[in-house]
Amino acid sequence: VSHQIAVLGGGISGLSAAYYLSQNVPATTKIVLFEGSKRVGGWIESKRVGTCGPEKGKPGNEGVLFELGPRSLRPKGAGGVVALDLIRNLSLTDSLLTVPATAPSARNRYIYYHDKINVLPSSGPSLLLSRPPIMRGVISSAISEAFRKPKDYATDPDGDESVYAFAERRFGAHVARNLVGSLVHGIYAGDARELSLRSTLRALYDNERVYGSVVRGVVKGGVEIETFREKGVMWRSRREDTDFFSAMENMSVIGFREGMEALPRRLREVLETIENVEVRMEEEVTFVKMGQEGEDIKVETEKGAIHASHVISALPAPTLHKLLSASNQPLPHLNHNPYVDVAVVNLAYDNPKLVPYDGFGFLTPLTTDDHPPANKTTPPGTLGVVFDSNAMPGQEPTGQYTKLTVMLGGHQWDEAFDGTPIGAVVPDEVLWRAMDVVKATLGVESPPLYALTNLHANCIPQYRVGHHTRLRELHAALQSPVYKHRLSVVGNSYLGVSVPDCIKNARALVEELVAAGGLS
Ligand code: FAD
Repeated sequence: VSHQIAVLGGGISGLSAAYYLSQNVPATTKIVLFEGSKRVGGWIESKRVGTCGPEKGKPGNEGVLFELGPRSLRPKGAGGVVALDLIRNLSLTDSLLTVPATAPSARNRYIYYHDKINVLPSSGPSLLLSRPPIMRGVISSAISEAFRKPKDYATDPDGDESVYAFAERRFGAHVARNLVGSLVHGIYAGDARELSLRSTLRALYDNERVYGSVVRGVVKGGVEIETFREKGVMWRSRREDTDFFSAMENMSVIGFREGMEALPRRLREVLETIENVEVRMEEEVTFVKMGQEGEDIKVETEKGAIHASHVISALPAPTLHKLLSASNQPLPHLNHNPYVDVAVVNLAYDNPKLVPYDGFGFLTPLTTDDHPPANKTTPPGTLGVVFDSNAMPGQEPTGQYTKLTVMLGGHQWDEAFDGTPIGAVVPDEVLWRAMDVVKATLGVESPPLYALTNLHANCIPQYRVGHHTRLRELHAALQSPVYKHRLSVVGNSYLGVSVPDCIKNARALVEELVAAGGLS
């Protein structure tokens, strides 16, 4: 058997898996990473525009940085600490941008409701002082929630349900549709009625299970969600550089001066300097043949084939399903969760004070079938608008722009684009739609100086109700003799979609495999 490990996919999950492998396996073990496209990073992509054309050469003009995918990371919890530790090890701390938790952009969160920006209270006292329309009735819902009988988890230990069903059961339809529906738009571009509570908003689930109520749980400090192992990793990382980690504890979000893509770019650079690592670009994997227990696995690509003793798939689960399906004992559930399409429109204006709000941006409530509608004037399918120049200042040193990102579609793709599938939608029409959104919601009528439209097909997996149970079954199937210590899976299809979760899960997987002797 060859001592060769194949990592499939060069998104943040595959790059992190290859990096942690390189730090943990002997130099005699070869690590080969396959990426199908021309660049690494997957959904993480940053572009600087306006560095040529009429603006070129103007004093101080360095163009405008646009994020096409993720724009900030939360440095909290196990994922946050592991991501920070990676950033430190890659010597990227000098290019970090940090937003303190006390900054207005971190404190001010908005929901567009009743055709107005509603400022969400950021603290207990502000909850009592200001009552935007969206908060009407929320205090009494919260008080009743504290006394509402919890679900009987003893008779239903998995106890999963949709995020919406949970929020409606505990707090009522207004909170479920407008507050929780908005939150789900912000993270998953998804429908709260479809998503698993347990796998997406675990803290709510845990608080009811342990304290009998979300509100009582929050008052008592909440349930610790980190596992023993994660706590160990957090402790070891923090011990290395206490000053850096304590400074980061006060941050709400972090980003990079040259955009989020700085992270995968540097990972690739570092991997390419390591002797036993090979990064193969533009080499799409077309087939994975497991063969028998004890044999090598054959990984076929457009350009040839290699044999590996272990394969780590960091591909979307449905892609792995296809690669495996032709020849092997099937793995369950890889094809179960749907993925949503999102249109991301980046806009930059040469007026730095165009938007009279100092906050992160706004989200919109769940609008499907709402009667009466939460908003009458927002174009259909609007998920939200990020105020990038507020949320992550410092990417244009001269700071002379307002940057906005309009997110459209997600689970409301058909409503947004009259049922036209993503492949047939015309980008210019999407740009017009985005300009309608900023006009209707923020009163911005002037044309942007720079604009970039990207249509992301199948970009965010939707963990459906019962995801946790299906993952357990998938895990059990991976322990069967054909797969055990031969194939592992990681990536945003399984245990969290955020970039920090992807990094943390890649590290946890590699450490578990090494500890179990699964790579020798
Ligand atoms: P992917 O990025 O999907 O990587 C998979 C890789 O595999 C790709 O590079 C692909 O080219 C490659 N590949 C596919 N098929 C093959 C094949 N057959 N052979 C070889 N290679 C193949 N997270 C945050 O934490 N903060 C945010 O602000 C945030 N905002 C987001 C905004 C948007 C619009 C999107 C789409 C996501 C956002 N996320 C955010 C989520 C986060 O960006 C993703 O979940 C994460 O980047 C996924 O990484 P991954 O490596 O698991 O998968």
